[in-house]
Amino acid sequence: MRVFKFGGASVKDAEGVKNLMSIVRQTTDELVVVVSAMGKTTNALERIVETIGQGDKRSVDQQWKELLSYHEQIATALGVNLKEAVADDVLGCVLAHRNAKDAVYDDLYDTIVSIGELMSTSIVAAYLNKEGVKTQLWNMPDLLVTDGSFREAAVNMQASAQRVKQAWNDPYRPRVVVAQGFIGGTQTGHRTTLGREGSDYTAALIANYLDAESVTIWKDVPGILNADPRLEKHTVLIPELSYFEAVELAYSGAQVIHPKTIRPLENKCIPLYVRPFMQPDEPGTIIHNVPKGQTKVPVYIWRKEQVLITMRAKDFSFVLEESLTQIFDVIHRCRLKVSLIQSSAVTVSVCVDHSRNMSKAIQLLSANFAVTYNEHLSLLTIRGTTPELIEQERQGRTILLSQLTRRTAKFVIAEQS
Ligand code: ASP
Ligand code: MG
Repeated sequence: MRVFKFGGASVKDAEGVKNLMSIVRQTTDELVVVVSAMGKTTNALERIVETIGQGDKRSVDQQWKELLSYHEQIATALGVNLKEAVADDVLGCVLAHRNAKDAVYDDLYDTIVSIGELMSTSIVAAYLNKEGVKTQLWNMPDLLVTDGSFREAAVNMQASAQRVKQAWNDPYRPRVVVAQGFIGGTQTGHRTTLGREGSDYTAALIANYLDAESVTIWKDVPGILNADPRLEKHTVLIPELSYFEAVELAYSGAQVIHPKTIRPLENKCIPLYVRPFMQPDEPGTIIHNVPKGQTKVPVYIWRKEQVLITMRAKDFSFVLEESLTQIFDVIHRCRLKVSLIQSSAVTVSVCVDHSRNMSKAIQLLSANFAVTYNEHLSLLTIRGTTPELIEQERQGRTILLSQLTRRTAKFVIAEQS
């Protein structure tokens, strides 16, 4: 069996869903098709959760109306009846929670944001069935068991493996299964999410549990490129990567695959293909078990909306190890994502992704350190670089901090791109 994953961009309109079906029809293999929310639905749902928190019910209703009509348009263009395809409690979820101004934010977030995937998969499965591709729809909140760390839930591997295998072994299961990416559920039936862009991770987990032959992520780019085509004019395709190199790229902020995706695949030596959904015959990139080999072209990775926090000891009794423990305790508690660390005799600097917990973190850190921070920065990572390239990239830029190793350069830059 194989696992296919279609991201939001690939199912952003009816044409996308039709293209998904044509790709599914091109193979006779048994498939689990993991699907994300359509287009920018997750962002729209995030805004709805924010608006509920602000108590602006009118705006919540308006935003939901727009999102619903977006899905209705796609369903109608596919000949699918939205109200029949999608469960009532999913379609009624936002309205049922529109008064939950004081709800625990993360909990409410997962309940609401998860409906993006529940709607997209219901529409896709209904369409496939209507067109004669017999499909079973899996409800991942019942199959992917997680803890209750809302917005970044940790998967219980054993329980999930058991449930997914059981569902797969259903004697009436057709060749094609459609499943939501990004979402799971607690043992007590609360919906959870795995962190933004988590659908790739779902695909990898299912592949791991079912010993898949491969995973294919269908994307709107030819494969993994050496730079973001929106930011650099001349990009080249990287045909092959090792698992190790892929993790490094993902961690640096390359928006190609979710960083957690690689481990479940590497554990079972399952190859991962990243291929263009508009040219399904193109080979794309393969990530697999090759020696730690490095890419031959320099790879540019931008990570935006960075905050550089610098902590200075309040007196000279600075003990680095102890300070690091305190700092990382706060970072962990506030769930900040660290992209770079640097320390000197009396300071520690950490670069993190901007987060809504930022002011809380700064406040906690200020108890022990003199804290300064800069916002709206970018982190540029260049892998496979040369001294000439480094010089070239420095030109004309305000660099707040740089870190160099033999083949990798990292710059914290005072601009957005
Ligand atoms: N829909 C979710 C997101 O946009 C998950 C994903 O696309 O992988 O973050
Ligand atoms: Mg996505």
